[in-house]
Amino acid sequence: MKHLNITTKDTKKNMNISEIQKLKREKKAVILVHNYQRPEIQDIADYLGDSLELSRIAAKSDAKIIVFCGVRFMAESAKILSPEKIVLLPREEAGCELANMATKEELMKFKSKYPNACVVSYVNTNADIKAETDVCCTSANAVKVIQGVSAKQIIFVPDRNLANYVQRFTDKEIIPWNGFCYVHDGMKADTAKKIKSSYPDAKLVVHPECQKEMINLADAITSTGGMVKFARESNADKIIIGTEEGMIYRLQKENPNKIFYTIGNARMCRNMKMTTLEDVLLALREEKYRIELPDFILKAAKKSLDRMLEYN
Ligand code: SF4
Repeated sequence: MKHLNITTKDTKKNMNISEIQKLKREKKAVILVHNYQRPEIQDIADYLGDSLELSRIAAKSDAKIIVFCGVRFMAESAKILSPEKIVLLPREEAGCELANMATKEELMKFKSKYPNACVVSYVNTNADIKAETDVCCTSANAVKVIQGVSAKQIIFVPDRNLANYVQRFTDKEIIPWNGFCYVHDGMKADTAKKIKSSYPDAKLVVHPECQKEMINLADAITSTGGMVKFARESNADKIIIGTEEGMIYRLQKENPNKIFYTIGNARMCRNMKMTTLEDVLLALREEKYRIELPDFILKAAKKSLDRMLEYN
């Protein structure tokens, strides 16, 4: 009976995948998938990557429809960069809890308090914040952006841990927003130390959204795109990964001879895990949920994203 259930489930999954592939071809769509998505979603990606990699692809793609398997701010960024395209977010409610910690009202107060400061916003912000931002950044290029802007004072929105991390690389005054990603902020250095002592020859790689105690322990601090490169190029055959657990699936698949460990219990982002194959299929079939933004937001936010794309 159990065997029968698994077979039925697999058949359904395969049917969904072939229907997705068929609709994708017919509608000239492209599927962009973030590294934290479920394994079965990663497996149907045309492009799998971090926010910066996917933003670049969205900007260059000649597809008519972009299906963005990630969270809302990512799909919004794709729409801002390619306003003529249809951008679909398969789960309408998949937001980023970090992005939602920054409000326009609060940002305006910051701006009037520090009138000479430049506003650098992490790409993990909603479109109205990007529209009030001078330049966006991702975890992959935040240090370069901070070093590149001419202002001596920088309001950094919304992640306090990333703000503290970039402060290590500049004498400029970074004024951090008090936001955090509960997935990364929740990873504890004590747990990482225990894992390190169990696997003394393993390397520890952490995301800069982690707290400074974790960052201080790490052998490398990098974005998820950087983790892909590190895993490929490092001599270490055991690597402890300090980011959302979805990353492990990709790393293990691309590096079958290496072993990857999470920090303690797997840390999962509930919003990143919402999207299922059925959602992607429905998104393609019914062309939903479309990202629509007011024209003035599209135009203003595009400037801050375009400036970000100038930094490698
Ligand atoms: S992992 Fe953190 S930053 Fe990424 S989408 Fe989830 S809440 Fe937002």
